Amino acid sequence: MHHFEFRDGTLFAEEIAVNELADTYGTPLYVYSAATFKRHFEAFDSAFDGLEHMTCYSVKANSNLSVLKLLASMGAGMDIVSGGELYRALKAGVSPEKIVYSGVGKSANEIREALAADILMFNVESLAELEKINDIAEQEGKVARVSFRINPDVDPKTHPYISTGMKKNKFGLDMEHSLKAYSRAVELPAIEPIGMDCHIGSQLTSIEPFLEALDKLLNFNEKLKGMGIEIKYLDLGGGLGITYDEEEPPHPKAFGEALTEKLKDLPMTVILEPGRVIAGNAGIMVTEVLYTKETPSKSFVIVDGAMNDLVRPSLYDSFHRIGEAEQHGRDERDVDVVGPICESGDFLARDRQLPWVHQGERLVCYSAGAYGFTMSSNYNSRRRACELIVDGDKVTVARKRESYEDLIANEL
Ligand code: PLP
Repeated sequence: MHHFEFRDGTLFAEEIAVNELADTYGTPLYVYSAATFKRHFEAFDSAFDGLEHMTCYSVKANSNLSVLKLLASMGAGMDIVSGGELYRALKAGVSPEKIVYSGVGKSANEIREALAADILMFNVESLAELEKINDIAEQEGKVARVSFRINPDVDPKTHPYISTGMKKNKFGLDMEHSLKAYSRAVELPAIEPIGMDCHIGSQLTSIEPFLEALDKLLNFNEKLKGMGIEIKYLDLGGGLGITYDEEEPPHPKAFGEALTEKLKDLPMTVILEPGRVIAGNAGIMVTEVLYTKETPSKSFVIVDGAMNDLVRPSLYDSFHRIGEAEQHGRDERDVDVVGPICESGDFLARDRQLPWVHQGERLVCYSAGAYGFTMSSNYNSRRRACELIVDGDKVTVARKRESYEDLIANEL
């Protein structure tokens, strides 16, 4: 459910017409709905009420500071993957004991910064990383709390680029190396193993792979118990999918119920790291039609939003529903919606049935709140878009559109 709805043929973001926002703030434009963010967070978090748990929003999905502040104000913890995300989470007021640090390649500086902040734990992904964290923690006179990211070799049945829990993926440790890692961790002076972690992929549309991974982790926990290692935190990562097109992912409530059933008697705090399911349908990208062009074989709608603004269609061939900001009731045609970038891979939609639009009209890409702006770039020296948060009839500029000066600010 989201708060982007039509009233008499005009698309509204909560109480404000999207076209009005585009008139005032220009395009391409990201518009987020505060009510939708709140609703998604509440729905997800409350699905785990039956368990001792922490919902650590995955910052990479949408890291705008205003978004993080909104979620932090609702009690969210954060899952981070870089020093930059740590910086943002702390700036947003997230308390360090609610921050978990994932990622396969944490640098020495990033480890030092996270130790200085005293985050809850590092999700460690290799033996080499474990040794590095121990060395740095020793130098700093600290003890690093860690969990190991276990790669359970489960097929999440999602796009290969966002599938992370199969043995061919770079992520985590297989079961055998995980055992070695825990044995080594208890020997190291500056390491305290407190958790078990896994994240098998993103945009999962069924619960089964989660349950399969969970079973493997629970079995593994028995082995740890046998070694006298007591795990306090079970981090199950993120990955719950959303509806972009016709997918029917499980509702967070059903997801919560299925996990609660398996975990209710376990004396551990469960950590969840949802990203897409919180942010995806809480945002749209608005773009203006620059030109239309008909060739003997195709019709193109050329818009001012491009792959640098929303790369998911080009990168994963992923589907974003596209529609008019103002409905005109015109006939549909088969079109490609493309941006101005000098790449044939620069498209927002291909072979899509859309009402024929005219120059100056606005189109809306739905489900752009997650992995939209955060994956944007300056390719072709395009300035990154403006981000707005609408809360009822109030608009906040969550990020200004970049200027030309911003583009070269760090160059000689
Ligand atoms: N946790 C980790 C370790 C991740 O790598 C990701 C995304 O790739 C997430 C959580 C969030 O996943 P999603 O946005 O699918 O919920």
